[in-house]
Amino acid sequence: MSENPIHNFFITFAKIHLQQANMKNEKDLIARSSNSCELCKFTSNLTVYEVPTNNEEGILICAKCTAQLNKKEELDSAHWACLNEAMWSEIPAVQVVSWRLLNRLKDQSWAADALDMMYFDEDTMAWAKSTGDHENDGSVELHKDSNGMVLQDGDTVVLTKSLDVKGSTLNAKLGTVVKNIRLVADNTEQIEGKIEGQTIVILTKYLRKG
Ligand SMILES: [Zn+2]
Repeated sequence: MSENPIHNFFITFAKIHLQQANMKNEKDLIARSSNSCELCKFTSNLTVYEVPTNNEEGILICAKCTAQLNKKEELDSAHWACLNEAMWSEIPAVQVVSWRLLNRLKDQSWAADALDMMYFDEDTMAWAKSTGDHENDGSVELHKDSNGMVLQDGDTVVLTKSLDVKGSTLNAKLGTVVKNIRLVADNTEQIEGKIEGQTIVILTKYLRKG
């Protein structure tokens, strides 16, 4: 039987098919979610969020969910009421992300109650805990300008103070416009920007969003 070339072809085909099923691409996720955010059901601006720390699992989510999940915006607890439903998803990646978000919101009783109802097997729990979100509070560290406006990579800012750049003749006067800034990853009080072709670090308290 195994010498039958057609039979072998089908075995090979089935194996390849199985491997592909594990690596979900965007098309699969759109079909799985009926083209809606797998957390809040919103239907615009959907992108694939690769769920850390499992490289093969992604979920399709909207821009608002992505920004808050990635700590680019403060958590909006009214928005996350959607987790009361998402936590019961049959998709482990959606469950894991819901659990992490609920943990960030757990100082609110509804989120703590929801967490009490969730159950994971050992492997899924290890995956859920692998980012350490469950050990942190819900606070989000954001880069903000001197007026408290949230800054993002690529923003244009204006200096609100003339800067003295040590060891340089750089002209960084008050009112200087700095385009396409980069946020300094581990310090919310600093950004990087180019003035007269030189990249310098600028304190966020000395600038405002342009
Ligand atoms: Zn969403």
